[in-house]
Amino acid sequence: MYAFTYERPASLSDASKLIKAGAQPLAGGQTLLASMKQRLSSPETLVDLSKIAELKDIKLEGSSIVIGAMVKHAQVAESDLVKSHLPALAELAGQIGDKQVRAMGTLGGSVANNDPAACYPSAVLALGATVHTDHRSIQAEDFFHGMFTTALESGELIKSISFPIPKKAVYLKFKQQASRFAMVGVFLAQTSSGVRVAVTGASSQGVFRHHGLEEALNKSFSVESAASVKIDEADLNTDIHASAKYRANLISVQTQRAVKILLG
Ligand SMILES: Cc1cc2nc3c(=O)[nH]c(=O)nc-3n(C[C@H](O)[C@H](O)[C@H](O)COP(=O)(O)OP(=O)(O)OC[C@H]3O[C@@H](n4cnc5c(N)ncnc54)[C@H](O)[C@@H]3O)c2cc1C
Repeated sequence: MYAFTYERPASLSDASKLIKAGAQPLAGGQTLLASMKQRLSSPETLVDLSKIAELKDIKLEGSSIVIGAMVKHAQVAESDLVKSHLPALAELAGQIGDKQVRAMGTLGGSVANNDPAACYPSAVLALGATVHTDHRSIQAEDFFHGMFTTALESGELIKSISFPIPKKAVYLKFKQQASRFAMVGVFLAQTSSGVRVAVTGASSQGVFRHHGLEEALNKSFSVESAASVKIDEADLNTDIHASAKYRANLISVQTQRAVKILLG
């Protein structure tokens, strides 16, 4: 580590001012502190968001669940509101990392970081969520720009994310056993505008929607229909954990399982 300035404002406007002046937001530190220790990141000023009450709400607004950026994974997993209206999201949060990571990691930190194997981005994309920042709202489709890259501009702070409540949804994650990140995670949602399938962990470009699976499942919501879609391995990732071919097979198998679950 090296010397840096630490700020812990109690209001969003104070945090916004500091961040616009070049400081970096600190959420639960699950990624940021490790990258600072490894000298991959060297901010001069950190703005700890943990005292800002308005970033910590979970509420029902119309037909959406709105979750503050500083809500921790464990809180999403245990929230009665999320469990009753959007159980797939609570289950997703409950599968992130281990107990320690869930006690510190946050929704905002995860989505801002956009790790290509992170779980939340698949829910954001499959549910057509909206990311609200301190000066605009960004649709999920426009938010994720590839590995560790998002539409967030420098000095922009995520305040909350609105998740429209789907008819039904499920998240199936095949874990990479050492890190517990997704080797392949499939979030399948039946929404008012049709079936949406978002995949994480499989592409080095990060989360993506699988339009072939969506088209097939919109025509016929069945296991056979999911199985009939050939998953192109050309755009998928090969690394020490799995080949692109293996990941392509996992996308198909996990989607078929997800369909089976939603069909009851
Ligand atoms: C051992 C381990 C296992 C993990 N397993 C999983 C897993 O299975 N699935 C999964 O999805 N994730 C996993 N994670 C990631 C973890 O869940 C965190 O979500 C992630 O590390 C981000 O951490 P954080 O929320 O503490 O954000 P931080 O580390 O504090 O910040 C991360 C980045 O986001 C920026 N940031 C933070 N908050 C905001 C905001 N409100 N607005 C704008 N920018 C912001 C920071 O400046 C920084 O660049 C794992 C992490 C670890 C260490």
